Amino acid sequence: MIDHAPDSTQSFGIIDEPADARPSSGSMLKAVGFAAKHSFSKLKRFEFERTPAEANEVELEILFCGVCHSDIHQVKNEWSNTVYPCIPGHEIVGRITRAGSAVTKHRVGDLVGVGCMIDSCGSCGPCQAGDQNYCEGPNSWLATYNGPMVPAVKAPGEVNSYGRDNTYGGYSNNLVVKESFLLKIPSALRPEEAAPILCAGVTTYSPLKHWGVKSGQKVGIVGFGGLGHLACKIAKAMGAEVTVFTHTEEKLEEAGRFGITAVLEKDKEAFEGLKSSFDFILSTVPEKHDINPFIELLKRDCTLCVVGALEALPPVNNTQVAFHRRQVAGSLIGNLADTQEVLDFCAEHGIGPDIELINIDDVNDAYDKVEKGDVRFRYVINMASLEVED
Ligand code: NDP
Repeated sequence: MIDHAPDSTQSFGIIDEPADARPSSGSMLKAVGFAAKHSFSKLKRFEFERTPAEANEVELEILFCGVCHSDIHQVKNEWSNTVYPCIPGHEIVGRITRAGSAVTKHRVGDLVGVGCMIDSCGSCGPCQAGDQNYCEGPNSWLATYNGPMVPAVKAPGEVNSYGRDNTYGGYSNNLVVKESFLLKIPSALRPEEAAPILCAGVTTYSPLKHWGVKSGQKVGIVGFGGLGHLACKIAKAMGAEVTVFTHTEEKLEEAGRFGITAVLEKDKEAFEGLKSSFDFILSTVPEKHDINPFIELLKRDCTLCVVGALEALPPVNNTQVAFHRRQVAGSLIGNLADTQEVLDFCAEHGIGPDIELINIDDVNDAYDKVEKGDVRFRYVINMASLEVED
């Protein structure tokens, strides 16, 4: 485990070191959230401070925050890179409470969203091309929680271009964000439903768009969970004929409600009948899994994109790839433009995630349920349930 927290002796439940060590001329902003102190700890109330908004930043009161499976991976250090204390949450909808003097596109009172990123280097090739999510700066992009994607200890020359090793996410009452990393929440979306679109939505919209999914095409989605169910709705709104692959029998019926076809992953006969018939397949399964049966379902020249398992997968049978010039790909969240686009797309098409609203005190229980697949389909925390003292 890599533990590059600035101070691993930080204590719990008291005003602690600021999340970011940036120098501030003004007084610090008091904040409270739910944090995990270790990979084996439950999330607990945690008081800390944030650096107040600089000229190009805003301060938000957080209203809602989605619970992504990535939050669970991160809290449990399943990617071996967690910085503790860890306050997860990157599907954030909030209201601006203060805007810095150079902020021009947003005003106090605006409803805004924050997804997985709060900064990037801005000068590398991908950033210049608008792909902040593939930032090639020394520390890559700055994640909304858990600090830079490439921590200083692993960066070339051990630099830290963001001046902070940890960042604290949306399971908290407030946030300070650069104006350029804010998203506008369309008025047609309910704020609590907009939250999951900021990660689950863009992570699935971006590859569907990148690989050119269009009306009349046949699209497969593997895993009918938080990302998967939103992917089904988005692909259907793009005009695709959608099939979801699930390992959960009870979900077969639920697919009917979405107007899509469902196939049980163990149904070998169904797989046989679907060979070489899909234009695009997106896998959202959260852990390593055998993608070979899905590769065989692709037409010639078509792509299977894995967004779920961010880890090594079992070997791919290249015969099945080469003989049909198929492609196996991956994709990481989405850039800022695509995030705004998917919010607008969902508003325009009248779609959004199916959510279960919970209080912050229920978050540990919610984690257990997500791991058991016992949620339909995304938990969203009502942050009004977090007690904040004046
Ligand atoms: P969920 O837990 O909400 O959904 C995952 C679904 O996968 C489940 O509902 C289940 O669907 C299916 N599944 C198959 N095998 C398993 C298994 N062994 N354990 C649990 N579920 C299984 O997760 P999310 O949709 O929130 O996230 C999915 C993955 O995507 C996570 O690993 C997350 O870290 C990753 N992610 C990746 C991003 C990227 O940028 N690439 C961004 C955001 C998330 P069914 O019952 O239908 O089989």
